[in-house]
Amino acid sequence: MKNKVKRLSQIGEFGLIERIKTKFADSNNNISIGIGDDACLIKPTVKKDILVTTDILLEGIHFDLSYTSFYQLGYKGLSVNISDIAAMGGLPRYLLISIGIPSNIETKDIDELYEGIYELTKDADIYIVGGDTVRSKGSLFLSLTLIGEIEHNRAISRSGAKTGDKIFVTGRTGDSRAGLEILQGKAAMRRSWSKSLVGRHLCPVPRLLEGRMLASERLASSMIDISDGLIADLNQICKESNTGALIYLDRLPVSKELYEYTKETGGNPIEYALNGGEDYELLFTVDKEKEEGINRMMMKKRIMDCCCIGEIVPVNREIMAIDKHGVIKRIKKQGYEHFKMEDRK
Ligand code: ADP
Ligand code: MG
Repeated sequence: MKNKVKRLSQIGEFGLIERIKTKFADSNNNISIGIGDDACLIKPTVKKDILVTTDILLEGIHFDLSYTSFYQLGYKGLSVNISDIAAMGGLPRYLLISIGIPSNIETKDIDELYEGIYELTKDADIYIVGGDTVRSKGSLFLSLTLIGEIEHNRAISRSGAKTGDKIFVTGRTGDSRAGLEILQGKAAMRRSWSKSLVGRHLCPVPRLLEGRMLASERLASSMIDISDGLIADLNQICKESNTGALIYLDRLPVSKELYEYTKETGGNPIEYALNGGEDYELLFTVDKEKEEGINRMMMKKRIMDCCCIGEIVPVNREIMAIDKHGVIKRIKKQGYEHFKMEDRK
């Protein structure tokens, strides 16, 4: 019987919850009641503010099971939530997982999905404290709610950028979009650069340490994580802060792999870096007086891999870009936006 596929209908909703509880739900001193009651009970930490973020992942819209494993789905699902907490400067602590499961999904698939989630929770002090489980008549549905903590009054919002601040970004941008194109068969799979780009799309690593550093050292005046694309997300900062921005095109952090990829496909690496999306890097602004602090952190590369890509300008200048010849152009906001597909010609 060992090799026989275990259908979820055999163990039922309660069997599944029991399985999750025994396999994945660790506990800590703050959790008075975890999985298994009507609600979980968490004792708040003194002098800490609470951050809460939630995301929906819907099959066919946010992920494609033809090239995403259940493990990768779980990993990325949590990764993007951690990225949201990181973008506020916080520390993720408690996780709720809601799933809508279609009938063709097997028990081992759900186990794998939880393994992907567990990969990120086990070393990060994140505890699974609850969720909800339903049957789905259509596609697979996953919704994660992550509760984080941050020292009182230290959270970094999108609205604090000021004219004259420098704009920084962690890591490299544009890789994830190239990875997605490779997965969708738009470019060759077997090249030296493919694995890295695909990995950046399927299993992005959230910039948690960087976000924490920026908050604890009070270095960033505003911050956002890049999910829709550098320009689209920078536009959010500008909108909330009532500013414009000037991007230095020759300073964009393009990876060697992306450069090689676009050389083969004929694409423009700058365009990927500006509008790619799903990079989950942190985009933040820094008061000129505090730039020295960033430089100090950059010297310790393992903590802070980031670069300056522009500056905040008055709102009437909107979002502009300057190239290496000093030519300034206005940039159109792009990136993925739900419900706006029909607007794009
Ligand atoms: P209720 O009917 O009161 O909502 P449930 O039977 O849905 O209770 O859930 C029982 C317990 O299991 C709760 O603690 C809930 O948070 C937890 N739980 C349910 N589904 C999941 C899941 N997919 N992952 C983790 N915990 C879950
Ligand atoms: Mg329930």
